[in-house]
Amino acid sequence: MTRTALVSGAGIAGPTLAYWLVRQGFTVTVVESAPGPRPGGQTVDLRGAGRTIIERMGLMPAVRAACMEQEGLAYVDAEGHHLAEMRVADLGGDGIVSELEILRGDLARILLDATTDCEYLFGTRVTALDDGTATLSDGTVREFDVIVGADGPHSGIRRLAFGPEERFVRPIGGYTAWFTAPDPVGLEGWYRMYNEPGRVASARPDSVPGRAKAGLSFLSEPLEYDRRDVAAQKALVAERMAGMGWRTPQLVEGMHAADDFYLDLVAQVRMDHWTTGRVALVGDAGYCPSPLTGLGTSLALVGAYVLAGELGRHDSVAEAFAAYEERMRPYVAQAQELPPGGIRGYAPPTHRAIRRGIVMMRLMVSRPLRGLTKRLFFSKAEAIDLPDYSCTNGTFVR
Ligand SMILES: Cc1cc2nc3c(=O)[nH]c(=O)nc-3n(C[C@H](O)[C@H](O)[C@H](O)COP(=O)(O)OP(=O)(O)OC[C@H]3O[C@@H](n4cnc5c(N)ncnc54)[C@H](O)[C@@H]3O)c2cc1C
Repeated sequence: MTRTALVSGAGIAGPTLAYWLVRQGFTVTVVESAPGPRPGGQTVDLRGAGRTIIERMGLMPAVRAACMEQEGLAYVDAEGHHLAEMRVADLGGDGIVSELEILRGDLARILLDATTDCEYLFGTRVTALDDGTATLSDGTVREFDVIVGADGPHSGIRRLAFGPEERFVRPIGGYTAWFTAPDPVGLEGWYRMYNEPGRVASARPDSVPGRAKAGLSFLSEPLEYDRRDVAAQKALVAERMAGMGWRTPQLVEGMHAADDFYLDLVAQVRMDHWTTGRVALVGDAGYCPSPLTGLGTSLALVGAYVLAGELGRHDSVAEAFAAYEERMRPYVAQAQELPPGGIRGYAPPTHRAIRRGIVMMRLMVSRPLRGLTKRLFFSKAEAIDLPDYSCTNGTFVR
C-alpha cells in the first residue's frame, strides 16, 4: 500500500525530502506558510555531502548554471581597500566562499521544479497535530503515515510535537539582516565585509548586475520584537548601524527599500531527539547550525536524503526514525561546532580583535598553512558516509 507523508516547509529541506520520499514510493503533500515560493536570501554554500545529494538528484547541471561567479571574501577598511582576502581558489573551492555558491532563492526554485509530482499547498500551515493526524489552516483534517517539520529554525511542527521554541533554540549572541540592495561599491565578484566593534556590514554579488546581497549584523542579547512588523525591524537595524563607516549608510538606505528583508537571531537548534511517534524534524527545524558555520544548506540536503532513505528501507516508522537519528547525530554534532570565537570571531567586539582577525585570515590563506586551514575548518561537510538507498524497496527510479 502507498505510504503518505506530510512535509511542512518548502525551503531547502522540505522539497529535497519530498523528492526522495516520492522515489521511495510515498505520496507527498507539502504545506508552506508563505503564499508562494519564497524568494530572497543570499548565496548559500553547497559543500561536501550536500553536493553529492544534488548530484544524486541529477540537479547539478541546473545548479551549476545558476551558480554565481565569485572571487572570494575580502575584509575592507572604511575607504574600501582590501585588508585581507580569501580567494575561492585558495582553499580549493572549499573556503568561506565556496566553489558552488547559489542564491538561496534559486536553489529553492530548482528543488521545487524537481518535485512537481508532489502536492504543494502554499499559504497553508499545520495548526494542530495528533501524531499522524494533522489539522491544516484551511480547516481540513488529514491522516498521514509520517509528518515532517522542515519549517526552519522557528518550526511550527517542532512547537506542536516537541514543545516551545525556547527549549531548543540557543541564541549565539547576535542578529543578522539580509536583503537585496543597490551595489554600493562595484563588487566585481567580491564578497566585501567591513567591521567595526560588534558590527558587520557586508555586500556580495547578486545575479543582477548593479545589485548586491547585503548583510548587516550586530552583537546583541535576544531582543523582543514583532516578527511580522518589518518596518519596526528595519528601524531597529538602522539604529544599530548608525554612525558606521564604509558604505553602510547606502546599505541602510537600500534596506529601507528592500522587499526581501529578513532579520533573524543568530542561533542554533539543539535537540536530544528529532523524532517522536510519527513526527520527525529535518534541516534547520531540528539542527540549525547557524549561518556562522556555512553548513545549514548541506545539513538540510543530507538530512532529507537520509530520512527519506531510511523510511524507504524500513517498514516500521520507529525503526526508520532510529536509523535516521543514529546516522545523522555525529554529522550534525561536528557541523554545529562553531568557528573559533563563535559570533565574536565573525563580529569582533574591539578594534584589537578586528586587527587580530585580519592577521588570522592572512595567515590562514598563506601557502604553507592552506592545507592545515582546510583540514581544520573546512572539511566537516564531507564527514558522513552516504548510503545508496536506491534498491531499498524496488520503487526507486533514478
Ligand atoms: C527567506 C530566507 C532567506 C534566507 N537567507 C539565508 C542566507 O542569506 N544565508 C544563509 O546562510 N541562510 C539563509 N537562510 C537559511 C537557509 O535557507 C537554511 O539555513 C538552510 O538552507 C536550511 O534550510 P531549511 O529548509 O531547513 O530551512 P529554511 O530554508 O528556513 O526553510 C523553511 C521553510 O519553512 C517555511 N515555514 C516556516 N514556518 C512554517 C510553518 N509553520 N508552516 C509551514 N511552513 C513554514 C518557511 O517559509 C520556509 O520556506 C534563509 C532562509 C529563508 C527562509
